[in-house]
Amino acid sequence: MSQHFKHDVVIIGSGAAGLTLALTLPDNLHIAVLSKGELTNGSTYWAQGGVAAVLDHSDTVDSHVDDTLNAGAGLCREDAVRFTVEHSREAIEWLIEQGVPFTRDDEHDREDGGYEFHLTREGGHSHRRIIHAADATGAAIFNTLLERTRERGNITLLEQRVAVDLITEHKLGRKGRRCLGAYVLNRRSGEVDTHHARFVILATGGAAKVYLYTSNPDGACGDGIAMAWRAGCRVGNLEFNQFHPTCLYHPQAKSFLITEALRGEGALLRLPNGERFMPRFDPREELAPRDIVARAIDHEMKRLGIDCVYLDISHKPADFVRNHFPTVYQRCLEFGIDITCQPIPVVPAAHYTCGGVLVDQAGRSDVEGLYAIGETSFTGLHGANRMASNSLLECFVYARSAAADIVANLDKVAMPADLPSWDASQVTDSDEDVIIAHNWDELRRFMWDYVGIVRTTKRLQRAQHRVRLLLDEIDEFYSNYKVSRDLIELRNLAQVAELMILSAMARKESRGLHYTLDYPGLLPDAQDTILQPANADG
Ligand SMILES: Cc1cc2nc3c(=O)[nH]c(=O)nc-3n(C[C@H](O)[C@H](O)[C@H](O)COP(=O)(O)OP(=O)(O)OC[C@H]3O[C@@H](n4cnc5c(N)ncnc54)[C@H](O)[C@@H]3O)c2cc1C
Repeated sequence: MSQHFKHDVVIIGSGAAGLTLALTLPDNLHIAVLSKGELTNGSTYWAQGGVAAVLDHSDTVDSHVDDTLNAGAGLCREDAVRFTVEHSREAIEWLIEQGVPFTRDDEHDREDGGYEFHLTREGGHSHRRIIHAADATGAAIFNTLLERTRERGNITLLEQRVAVDLITEHKLGRKGRRCLGAYVLNRRSGEVDTHHARFVILATGGAAKVYLYTSNPDGACGDGIAMAWRAGCRVGNLEFNQFHPTCLYHPQAKSFLITEALRGEGALLRLPNGERFMPRFDPREELAPRDIVARAIDHEMKRLGIDCVYLDISHKPADFVRNHFPTVYQRCLEFGIDITCQPIPVVPAAHYTCGGVLVDQAGRSDVEGLYAIGETSFTGLHGANRMASNSLLECFVYARSAAADIVANLDKVAMPADLPSWDASQVTDSDEDVIIAHNWDELRRFMWDYVGIVRTTKRLQRAQHRVRLLLDEIDEFYSNYKVSRDLIELRNLAQVAELMILSAMARKESRGLHYTLDYPGLLPDAQDTILQPANADG
């Protein structure tokens, strides 16, 4: 039997953004945090590098703002960048208070004003400003926040709950457009429950799973973006997808990143015949920026029709390789590749979704009572290209500002009543699951081939045609069969894929992460791509 639940706040997503919001809200509120699989399922757990923040005495807010604006290729919203950076120190102090075990800097000279935690530097940053917990920052943050959350009696953590759709006044045919809760598939009971909530938060992460190769965990299906769109929210800049140049190419490896430090230490990119190709693309060769290396690899793979290229560090002494890259060495060895004497097969992989649900500085979307925070949102911080380690920062800063906004509005919002249960009377069990698996593969492959690192108008048109066919087929399937996690994700991926294609077609220039052979130049006026659903206000 499907059930009804009532919460003051429902947070869909248990990553950095969702857990931070839950912990920042007052402890007299009844809060539910949902995760569609295990709680660790999001990208947060896998983040390695760290969090960017202005912490060292020699660093300044202006410098972090300038670096972010430069990386964003003219498209960052300066107020969003300044807001995020100005709140970076207090966000990190809050994390330290929660007990996150950031790596300390025992060498620092406190009398000289040095910072007590170790700060590292990453691409695009002109200062050391990345606070980290060794090379497993995401896990350290996630585990600490989860521990704090478990200590709080007012927060209920619900695993294996897949939000299917948002419930709004508009969808129920009532006056107004407020969000009233969500329908959620309980994977343990197989039923779709009705969760009533005064405030609903989408903290569902990115959509990199729309591509064949991705560094993201399986759940990164853009569920929040698709649900918000169906509820009447605008979305922004979905054409900007960041690709990491080197992900291990192996049928069982799924999503293992080969760190850029390998290229930093002299690893060379080669074609299957051993020939180097980076010198043909950029004078910095293998040390060119991420997007240029990813584009060169993609170009060679398409030109030669090959499945991967090779990253080769075998010319360095074996001890050096084992000592500097123990994790990469071990992981590759598990797949039968000894990197001290063999090249590593690699492909670029979708890594980060820069666009998302359009929100203001409090994380408020276009639908009243509905917030979007973290990778699922579009705040204007990243512009046309995300700067490394700004994404976790965005999760903390906007989760905290959303919490403040909810508190300020608590008294004005009553618990929604009389929500209808999910209607499953017209659907049956599917005996055609092969369709889901087939469509899922087809979608991810044509997104990779036609809407990937290098685009053309013709490729985008092909993708648009195919995604329309898929959406029709998925709609029919959705209307006739019981929902499952796979079906919900496929429906959302196809929806987000269409929005990405439409956004890419609307941009008649090459800027930041969006590169098209038909419009290689930059337009003088930088504009966001904002899409508005037919059921939106105005
Ligand atoms: C390998 C890797 C390394 C990275 N390294 C860094 C780094 O060093 N620094 C940095 O700043 N950023 C890094 N990033 C990016 C950063 O980790 C993410 O942008 C960030 O963690 C996103 O956090 P989030 O809370 O928005 O979402 P996530 O952590 O992705 O969490 C999403 C949550 O939503 C849940 N969910 C999704 N859909 C539904 C649904 N329908 N119903 C119920 N629950 C749902 C999931 O189960 C999950 O709990 C990295 C990303 C990856 C993949």
